[in-house]
Amino acid sequence: MSKFSDHNFSGQKALVRVDFNVPLDDKFNITDDTRMSATIPTIKKILSDGGSVILMSHFGRPKDGPADKYSLKHLVKHLHELINADGGNTIKVFFADDCIGEQASLTANMLKPGEVLLLENLRFYKEEEMGDKAFAEKLSKLGDVYVNDAFGTAHRAHASTAVIAQFFANDKKMFGLLMESEVLSAEKVLHQAEKPFTAIIGGAKVSDKIMIIENLLQRATDIIIGGGMAYTFLKARGGNIGNSLCEDDRLQTALDILEKAKEKNVSIHLPEDSVIADKFAADANTEICPSDGIRAGWMGLDIGPKAIGIFSEVIRNSKTILWNGPMGVFEMEKFQNGTKSVALAVADATANGAFSLVGGGDSVAAVNQFKLADKVSYVSTGGGAMLEYFEGKVLPGIAAIKG
Ligand code: AMP
Repeated sequence: MSKFSDHNFSGQKALVRVDFNVPLDDKFNITDDTRMSATIPTIKKILSDGGSVILMSHFGRPKDGPADKYSLKHLVKHLHELINADGGNTIKVFFADDCIGEQASLTANMLKPGEVLLLENLRFYKEEEMGDKAFAEKLSKLGDVYVNDAFGTAHRAHASTAVIAQFFANDKKMFGLLMESEVLSAEKVLHQAEKPFTAIIGGAKVSDKIMIIENLLQRATDIIIGGGMAYTFLKARGGNIGNSLCEDDRLQTALDILEKAKEKNVSIHLPEDSVIADKFAADANTEICPSDGIRAGWMGLDIGPKAIGIFSEVIRNSKTILWNGPMGVFEMEKFQNGTKSVALAVADATANGAFSLVGGGDSVAAVNQFKLADKVSYVSTGGGAMLEYFEGKVLPGIAAIKG
């Protein structure tokens, strides 16, 4: 692979896989453009070298070929604004209403240095998700070099994220700046973590997070478990959890994890107390009680003040922090204190020199909501990809380039 910042794109057409799978409202306005704005430095570097940029992305989950709702044409105007936000000479942004075929090739061929072309949604072809080699080869013909800047889809072995790399020589394929910083941050946490290393794992389901916990048991010194998934652990230990979330088929798994943690000398921190509610609703009645003594009919929807104190202390003493998943139902104001307090503790630890990586859709939404995104070391743009990376899996999008 080639190093992006060392590569001179002058006179070259760079085929850049991005993740422009941004949320739209019903009037096709972009409600969160993080994924688009995160790729602008990559695009700009290619253009300022004197290269041209051909962007390809998936968008939504179209089932049966082209559909207006899933067209990337809705993003062109905003892309133009983002690319031209810093003033200077206007950079042209073209759109091809197909990602392969005659129109795509013609437009790509006509592209001049300093210009940008966005191709139509890759998933209008089922071959994209199938990882079809012939489709990948057709895409590869559009550019001279291949740049993968789509960490969000790095865990998929799709045509444009992995299979395509084989059609480019080693010095003609590379990570973009976003992908590079995602990979560097993830590697830093997984392979060069300074200790104490605390993993904060939350969210709804134990079953989604078993593999990441198992892998982190080999590396972390402390694992904080919060959110709905904590109650399966608490019940497994003999606690009364009332109507709290519980996966009864995972009780033994929870016990096995607690046992393994003991063997490995990893401290697992479960919430000592909880904010309980008499219904799953924003206007529920609430009380604080021990997390293993929740009475029938009530449910734990956030960690309580004692848990916040203990978790915050562990976090503030850490040198490396990985956070995936909220501590409670933070979408409702009554149950957001735990997640907010944990976010503040992560920000404090970071200010004191810790390296903190936040990933996973809901924890990222939480740090954004509490305006703390710039107070942590790195916010990952790839939820599923990040989870799989920390489960110890090889990500096809990374392997295809690294070889
Ligand atoms: P996940 O997608 O597994 O990371 O779960 C995130 C979701 O878990 C969020 O929508 C939270 O509202 C939800 N959640 C967190 N804590 C709880 C809880 N104690 N009870 C029910 N849902 C929860």
